[in-house]
Amino acid sequence: MIDLRSDTVTEPTAAMRAAMAEAAVGDDVYGEDPTVNRLQSAVAELLGKEAALFVTSGTQSNLCALLSHCGRGDEYIVGDHAHCYMYEAGGGAVLGSIQPQPVPTGEDGMLDLEAASGAVKRRDHHFARTRLLCLENTIDGKVLCLEQMRASAEVAARHGLAHHLDGARMWNAAVALGVPPAEVASHFDSVSVCLSKGLGAPVGSLLAGSTDLIDEAHKWRKMLGGGLRQAGLVAAAGLYALEHHIERLADDHAKAARLAEGLAETDGVTVESCSTNMVFIRLEDALLHPQQDLRSALLERGVVSDWHGSRCRLVTHLDVSDADIDTAVSAFSDLIGAQ
Ligand SMILES: *Cc1c(COP(=O)(O)O)cnc(C)c1O
Repeated sequence: MIDLRSDTVTEPTAAMRAAMAEAAVGDDVYGEDPTVNRLQSAVAELLGKEAALFVTSGTQSNLCALLSHCGRGDEYIVGDHAHCYMYEAGGGAVLGSIQPQPVPTGEDGMLDLEAASGAVKRRDHHFARTRLLCLENTIDGKVLCLEQMRASAEVAARHGLAHHLDGARMWNAAVALGVPPAEVASHFDSVSVCLSKGLGAPVGSLLAGSTDLIDEAHKWRKMLGGGLRQAGLVAAAGLYALEHHIERLADDHAKAARLAEGLAETDGVTVESCSTNMVFIRLEDALLHPQQDLRSALLERGVVSDWHGSRCRLVTHLDVSDADIDTAVSAFSDLIGAQ
């Protein structure tokens, strides 16, 4: 199967599984898992931060960040399409009594900084206390450039806010920008990164920041039920991924560009955007009705796709080859041509 729904569908490679099998382990709740400790140090160093904490998921990582930066009755400013506003079940509000203040997101994925500035509440008993500004990079595959991140950091500093990056796919951003991950991370007080997306590990994310912040996050991770025991088994996959799967993200970006080019030549398909490893397409309205059939017809040709009405997001990753891209493009053009 050529599964283009997400870069989370990858399976650990044989070499990654071997690294997992050989991992030295200990009880990480006692802080005694050497592989987890190595992973945390490696990520802290890679991101230029004092410390990092291994957590179960990107959602848990963002939630630990929100809970560590903000207290009850505080507020975080966030783009209205951001994962940590839209797609994390309102965890900050539910578990932290933290109020989200969404602001509009532009076509380029950047939140409106003027709106963000305007949304900062003045000190007054009527208002929640604004504490934190959150960015996401990449967002829908789109890369925020260094200048945009710097400008956001300036707004945060001007208003005395902490600055958090949801960098689930920041590796893709760093590769696309051609800069070390630490350069991206340098604009933020805390950064959440995922190992289980483009990097191909089966489990895990890390939150990086100052020693004090990560100490606070450690307590929240415990409370959220995220304390793990011999987690070195999965941390080993993460270490392997950091070493072997970051630079190759450029291949995924090239495959996405190849896919977008092929689909752009298919009548009835509009490529709405293609950036890093994601391609967004839309079917012509006339083709909308058979869309359900298209999903199954693509599946019969071995292509797994996820549709929302006439729109589809296609994501390249470790388990998709150049030949798979060509197969997918042919499947689309045969099937849509045939409607
Ligand atoms: C996937 C994702 C998350 C959440 O990660 P999970 O491991 O699925 O909880 C957070 N932020 C962004 C931008 C993501 O893409």
